Amino acid sequence: MRDPCPEDEALGAYMDHVLSPERQAEVESHLITCRICREVLALAIKSKTLVPDPVITK
Ligand SMILES: [Zn+2]
Repeated sequence: MRDPCPEDEALGAYMDHVLSPERQAEVESHLITCRICREVLALAIKSKTLVPDPVITK
């Protein structure tokens, strides 16, 4: 039995911790079994670190 890979959007939302706890757990357990998604996530985290969020100065 193989889980379908979550969409990039879902991975992004997972990364930002904006998923529902249920979905968050689903993605998490998928990541344990799916090396591809782990790499996608690692790359996303890396690129996010390199490009910091714009600082809003007001
Ligand atoms: Zn996957």
